[in-house]
Amino acid sequence: MCGIVGVTGSKEASNLVYLGLYALQHRGQEAAGIVSSDGQKLYRMRRKGLVGDVFNEESFEYLKGHMSIGHVRYSTTGENNQRNVQPFVGTLQSGDLSIAHNGNLTNFIELKNTLMDEGAIFQSTMDTECILHLIAKERKSNIKDGLLSALPKLKGAFSLLLLTKNELIAVRDPWGFRPLCLGQMDDGAMILSSETTTFDLIRAKLIRELDPGELIIFDQHGKSKSYFIKNEVKRTSCVFEHVYFSRPDSNVFGKSVYHSRLNLGKELAKEHKLKADLVMPVPSSGTLAALGYASESNITYQMGFIRNHYVGRTFIEPSQSIRGFGVRLKLNPVSSVIKGKDIIVVDDSIVRGTTSKKIIKMLKDVGAKSVSLLISSPPFKHPCFYGIDTPSYEQLIASKMSVEEIRRYIEVDYLGFLSIEGLRRAVQYQDGFCEACFSGQYPT
Ligand code: AMP
Repeated sequence: MCGIVGVTGSKEASNLVYLGLYALQHRGQEAAGIVSSDGQKLYRMRRKGLVGDVFNEESFEYLKGHMSIGHVRYSTTGENNQRNVQPFVGTLQSGDLSIAHNGNLTNFIELKNTLMDEGAIFQSTMDTECILHLIAKERKSNIKDGLLSALPKLKGAFSLLLLTKNELIAVRDPWGFRPLCLGQMDDGAMILSSETTTFDLIRAKLIRELDPGELIIFDQHGKSKSYFIKNEVKRTSCVFEHVYFSRPDSNVFGKSVYHSRLNLGKELAKEHKLKADLVMPVPSSGTLAALGYASESNITYQMGFIRNHYVGRTFIEPSQSIRGFGVRLKLNPVSSVIKGKDIIVVDDSIVRGTTSKKIIKMLKDVGAKSVSLLISSPPFKHPCFYGIDTPSYEQLIASKMSVEEIRRYIEVDYLGFLSIEGLRRAVQYQDGFCEACFSGQYPT
């Protein structure tokens, strides 16, 4: 996963992009970068680290201009090293071009091999770099024609922001896998962001989400024109954005993530009617689903775990050893809430099973009488190839074990998942979601 933000038509474009990246920090914590344009040339700054660490006041003296794009990175393709930090910049026949990408291309290897056979030199191990090469190979004199010829060759997820000296371009893949929204500030500046929470922060008004397959070109003053990528495919937006990934204060795919998560908890309560002294979340991923469960079941809601807010998302750390350690670092059980009680604990998903196993042990260690674990999504059985960082089949616990086997492995008294029908009801499914991680039905 990654987050992208772009601004055009503002004297403070890079500053606004920086604030926007702060609001999208949950989408990627490994690296951040901004590229701006003053109409003469592109200025770039990018580094590994959190948004607050990568930029300082001097950065904005350097990142000049009325147009700017930014990226926060979470490595799904390519290693976590400096040369993979976005935005990328390349020089094409039509001039300098910068690109920031959220999503994964599923035909990356095929595209890269073909390009390398033809003599292309790659500077990174990222799928995103293929897009620059493909545009360059079209040898068009303007970026619009280059994009409209190159983009139909891409398969998979790509919400993109591109920047030339004079234009900011936003693209959403024809499947609409990842979100990308358009907003406007009071002074007329236009803003693009993966999530609407950015607009709240900088007081921009949401205009709309880009349509799947849409390409919008903005000039320096924010004037725009839309085009469409030729590709007759069905819309399949990622349901996991609502389950886990997006911030709950965002509207994603036209729906409130907050309310989707409450509904996921309510559906869970209808499907798993349990008796308990209290229901508690695994914070923060299970917070709203647990609230939904409590309101539907009339069981008292408690915060049995206190979270250390200064630790990043544990899953994001790439090595298994750090991940295991991270759970303890992040969550501490409150023994006065838990001791001697029958507890329902709610989380959004089980991926490898590492987190749940540790959480159950922590609750038992402080004296819980019984622990039931409820998961507000179906078993995660299939890897995602569209930009969510998930392991291969061998590491996905639900693809190797039955629910009962997982229950025994994580040593919990009761384990329940939400059904796919429950998930669809909660997110008001209208045939437009990708559920491949749960169903194995990949749209590409
Ligand atoms: P695991 O310990 O591997 O079972 O991971 C499960 C935990 O990671 C859950 O608490 C989820 O909230 C969180 N999670 C699920 N999917 C992802 C993802 N793609 N990236 C980061 N965290 C995730």
